[in-house]
Parts: sequence; structure tokens; C-alpha cells
Amino acid sequence: MTVSSPVSFTHTVTERFLRYVVIDTQSDPASPTCPSTEKQKDLGRLLARELQAMGLSDAHLDEHGYVYATIPSNSAKHVPVICFCSHMDTSPDCAGANVKPQIVRDYRGGDIVLPADPSQIIRFVDHPALADQTGNDIITTDGTTLLGADNKAGIAEIMDAAQFLLAHPEIKHGAIKILFTPDEEIGRGVDKVDLKKLGADFAYTIDGETAGNIEDETFSADGVTIAIEGVSTHPGFAKGKMEHAIKIAAAIVDRLPKDTCSPETTEGRQGFLHPIGISGTLETATLGLIVRDFTDAGLQEKEVLLENIVKAVMRDFPRSTYRMEIKQQYRNMKQVIDRHPQIIDNAMEAIRRAGLTPAKTSIRGGTDGSRLSFMGLPCPNIFAGEHAFHSRLEWVSVQDMEKAVQTIVHLAMVWEERA
Ligand SMILES: [Zn+2]
Repeated sequence: MTVSSPVSFTHTVTERFLRYVVIDTQSDPASPTCPSTEKQKDLGRLLARELQAMGLSDAHLDEHGYVYATIPSNSAKHVPVICFCSHMDTSPDCAGANVKPQIVRDYRGGDIVLPADPSQIIRFVDHPALADQTGNDIITTDGTTLLGADNKAGIAEIMDAAQFLLAHPEIKHGAIKILFTPDEEIGRGVDKVDLKKLGADFAYTIDGETAGNIEDETFSADGVTIAIEGVSTHPGFAKGKMEHAIKIAAAIVDRLPKDTCSPETTEGRQGFLHPIGISGTLETATLGLIVRDFTDAGLQEKEVLLENIVKAVMRDFPRSTYRMEIKQQYRNMKQVIDRHPQIIDNAMEAIRRAGLTPAKTSIRGGTDGSRLSFMGLPCPNIFAGEHAFHSRLEWVSVQDMEKAVQTIVHLAMVWEERA
């Protein structure tokens, strides 16, 4: 198979997608188990069975709810082993049981009113990505649940690409690993992944938004805890003595930058300081914040700014004290991915061969890929076509999912060609 010979693709990804989204796989942050909800294994078992049926004899669901499978190499070359990864769980932020998908065929622009709850409207003005969907078939819910395109679109695309590669042995590729994870939405998606068993050199999560996008950057993230000790006295005899820990914490929050440096005032590559918890009594209070930026220097700058605010507030409370603790949460995966430029180069080429214009973007958040990258498996994120995720307005188009399947297949081919 050469660059110029076109591959004729099938149209089976939608059927798969519709089969997966009706299985409730909502994860639960309050659960201590892995997977956090046993029902995620319902989808895991189905996927393992379907992969087995395709002839992938090592496909299995493990005790922690992870699905692993290998498409064996059919190339004589020594091709790096690449992995395609998606998550099986859906967000706990929105109802995920009894998903009833509908397909709006040949979309002609305008708003999409969801049938079971007409107050739920995917408005054209609020969803600029709809402008690229004219003539496409758009899948939504009935308006009572999320759809789960995040990330079952990615799962369906990987499954469909696997089936396609197995049906077309004339397409040469190296060994390809498939990994489906539980609990990504609650930040535990790679807690129990066995990278040795997986045995991949490079990976791609298929969990991005707009067709053509590839994301090789995430936020870098720290968590900050500020423990305040005030001065307690009986409130009836407190004049000139009491230093109230709750009021100190409130004063710190009040002095955080208001027009910059907060989630509600930033976008693109700007970072922020963001309070996430406050608790206290007269004597002690604890303030929790998260810090986000794309660079380590940007994180540090914000942490210095925060400590200067704390110090300035504490000057008004001379007998009170504070302790500030900074914990690293995750780092921008670009630091790792940049050491292996072929990961992005090959993905851009595959996206082009799928007939799209590749666009490199960054994620204002973390992904399983950012953690995998620092665990030794460099892993950018490729589009799956999912939009308005974690909401009842979630949608994906059939045509974008088909482009994602094509991108995965071409990516396997590009790695083989360039090996
Ligand atoms: Zn996702």
C-alpha cells in the first residue's frame, strides 16, 4: 500500500457507537474501588468479546476493568509498537443511564431541539462547531442524559479501525495495542494500567473534539494547601485579641486577582489560580487552591503571587501564622512528546491522508495521556469528534467519526512506511 493508493473505508462505526452508548458506564468519584463502578465492566466485557470475535486472541478484560488487545504486526520491518487508547466511563456530572440516541440526518444548519425535553436545545450560536457539519448526520440524545461520545466515539473508532485492518491484510502495519481504561473522568484512568503488559512504545488517546485536531499540550498542574492558625478567644472578651482564622482565609480569597489569572477570565494559553475548598473554625482554617499553567515558570510565578497575597494579609494579623504546601499534580505532556517528534509528525500526516487539515491545539486540563507520558508512554490526544461533552447537549457527527477511523488506519500505515 503506497501513499497514492486510496483505501476504501466502510461505514460501520456508527452502528458500533450506538451499541456502546446505551450501556451505562458512569464513574463515581466517591467510590474507593477500581473500577469505581462495577457496571463499567459491562462495556469492557462486550469489547473484549468483540475483539476476540475479530480474532484478537489475547483480548481480555482484567480485574481492574481495563481492556487490552493486540493486533499482530504483518510487516517484515521493525515498526515501533503504537497503542490506541480511549476511556469507557462517562462523566458523573450528568445522567448517563438509559441513553436514547437520535440521528439528525443531513443537518442543514440551525438549532437542534432534543425530543424528550424541548428545553434542551443545541443552539447554533452556542455551538460554532456546527457550522462545519452542514450535510452531516448528527447524533444527539433525547435530551434527558448525556450521550457518552466522550469517549465512546473514540472506542467505536478504535474498534472499527481494528476490524478494518484485520479485514485488509494488504495494509501493512506494526503491532498495534488497544487499551480501554475505566475512570478517566474521575482522574484515575491510568491508576492500575500495566504498561509492561501493554508493551507499547508510543500511544494516542482518541478523545479530542474537532475533526483534524491533535493535542500535544496539557496544563501543568499543582495543588496548594494553606493552613492558617488564628488566635482564639471568647467572643465576649475578644477586643484587640481575637484573630479569626476564617476571616483570614476569606481575606486571602478576596485578594486573589479578579480580572486576570482566574478560570472565568482566562482562555487559550493563560493560566490561573483557583480556590477549590475552604473550611475552618475560629482558630484554624484551611484553604485549598489549584494552580494551572502551560509552563513551570508560569506555575511558579502564580505561586509566588499567591504567597505574596498571603503574606500581605497576614500583616494585618500579626499573631497568626500560616503554612503553605505545594504539591505537584501533573505536568504538560509536551515536555515528553517533544523528545519524539515523529509521534506528532506521523499523526499530522495521517490526518492529512484522511482528507483533513491537521491543527495542533492545547488542552486546558489534564488527560490520561499527560499521566501516561510521564509514566514512560508518550501519548498525545487525537480528535474523536465529540462535542459539548459532560452535558445533555452532547453531540457527535457520523462523518467525523468516520474521519477518525480513517486517521487511525492511516496512522498505522504511516508508522510502518516510515520504519
Ligand atoms: Zn474524555
